[in-house]
Amino acid sequence: MQRRVEELSNGEFDVLIVGGGIQGIAILHTLTQQGVKVALVEKDDFASGTSANSLKVIHGGLRYLQAGDFGRMRRSIRARRRFMQLAPELVRPQGFAIPTSKQGSRHPVLMRAALWLNDLISLDRNRGVASSNRLPSGQILRNCDFVRLFAAGTETFSQTGALWFDALIHDAGRFTIELIKSAQRQGAVACNYVCAEKYLQHQGKICGIQAIDRESGESLTITAKIVVEVAGAGREQLQRNTTGTSGGYSCSWLKATNLVFSKALCRDYAVGLPGLQDRFPGDNSSAQESRYFFFVPYSGCTLFGTFYSSLKESPNDPTVTKDEVNLMLTHAQHLCPEANLTLTDVSMSHVGVVPASSGPGGKLSAIEKRSSVQVASQRDGWEGLISVQGVKYTESFQVADEVSKAVGTRLGHRHRPTKPQGLVGLDTDITTPISALARRAVRDEMAIHLTDFVLRRTTLGEMGYPGDRVAQDCAQAMATEAGWSPARIQSELAALHKHYEASGARVI
Ligand SMILES: Cc1cc2nc3c(=O)[nH]c(=O)nc-3n(C[C@H](O)[C@H](O)[C@H](O)COP(=O)(O)OP(=O)(O)OC[C@H]3O[C@@H](n4cnc5c(N)ncnc54)[C@H](O)[C@@H]3O)c2cc1C
Repeated sequence: MQRRVEELSNGEFDVLIVGGGIQGIAILHTLTQQGVKVALVEKDDFASGTSANSLKVIHGGLRYLQAGDFGRMRRSIRARRRFMQLAPELVRPQGFAIPTSKQGSRHPVLMRAALWLNDLISLDRNRGVASSNRLPSGQILRNCDFVRLFAAGTETFSQTGALWFDALIHDAGRFTIELIKSAQRQGAVACNYVCAEKYLQHQGKICGIQAIDRESGESLTITAKIVVEVAGAGREQLQRNTTGTSGGYSCSWLKATNLVFSKALCRDYAVGLPGLQDRFPGDNSSAQESRYFFFVPYSGCTLFGTFYSSLKESPNDPTVTKDEVNLMLTHAQHLCPEANLTLTDVSMSHVGVVPASSGPGGKLSAIEKRSSVQVASQRDGWEGLISVQGVKYTESFQVADEVSKAVGTRLGHRHRPTKPQGLVGLDTDITTPISALARRAVRDEMAIHLTDFVLRRTTLGEMGYPGDRVAQDCAQAMATEAGWSPARIQSELAALHKHYEASGARVI
């Protein structure tokens, strides 16, 4: 997988995708399988924004049962199965448990009925899934250990718990890189660190983009029959640069944050508990109300979240303050008092943005429920543009199918459903020396900066700063491959530190 920027300007593309988060990458992969000639540009590293920060749960939509939204639940179940078929080594079953309550909708009898219904609706959940990865049925657990450990609500909780299975994606960085590699093998062109600056228009139609290669500073003109805009929070700026207005587009965003604890707090199951009602200082959204917080076992650590709050900073650059880390820690201490959690157990936070909708009084109250695919028409003045807004990592391939159908209609061919083909090359890096990983990352995986290597081409820094020694070794190994000067090594290390500091991590 090479970074061939010159092919962007020279190529004749059917489709150009702007934005290389999971949604853009799923579209790239899907369209390539349909035989469409596709290019993708990403202004930073691939899947380094919101997509790098999810709680990593590939949902089967049990929560939609409560709202009676069976359609979305079925879509989620199919989406989860597709992930598990695509990357069985990385997308693996994970048990989720919540304590039942003595009264109300979490009573064991009602929970048993809900789990039974969930199993019934998802009868085909394991079709085509590797036998080692099959999702078992849900069950009511008796005398739960986790109720003792997570003791905050012992008075209201009974001693039983409801257990169901979803999937967790391990090493999302590898997953996305292998999707891009697979698309490139079939002729797609994808480049990171290429920023779309504005759309090009010809006779009232969008026909490409003006872009800048952020590595060389060179301007690029990239043309395509259709442009798919899947730039998350970057969409508004792009439309503004093109017309001087937002083109009628506006979106509200909520900040979404998970805390990473360096301790393994729960080994067998992820555990969900209702949280405190405290909000981040100055937060006037009500998106957090009546939500569950999950402690999710991941790579010997624990992910804790998800917290939602209103954004004060730009949605393109969300960060976490000390106050926010402290408040999330207070929640965790309250929910899991026996673990004696302190700030030293917090290794970093994962922060991103999610599209939100307004409730009564204009308050941001909920995360947008539906992904959207908007095909612009001549009347809108944006003909040739397809705008996509995903709301869940889990749903990204289903949204990609929708885009593929819209592209097929425009280009005059039919979208053919394809069988998910397992990705190859999903080897882990536990025993591979850093020098060999750096060689592969620089030569074959478009790792341009130290952050790309430490955070996404390997899992060395996924759960927190890996320490000065490892950081130095990684910088040195990349320098050998990419020919960095001593000054470049220092600036790459400084950028790595800055990244961790912005995510509330201790850099020592
Ligand atoms: C804390 C948190 C927890 C979550 N947990 C879950 C979960 O457990 N399960 C689940 O299913 N979902 C979860 N989500 C939601 C999920 O992560 C998102 O829906 C998904 O990652 C969005 O992907 P995306 O590709 O649409 O957006 P992004 O990842 O934001 O990608 C958009 C990309 O466009 C690029 N871009 C912007 N402007 C330009 C430009 N001008 N030129 C080129 N590129 C540009 C950006 O750099 C970015 O990489 C969670 C989200 C958060 C924040």
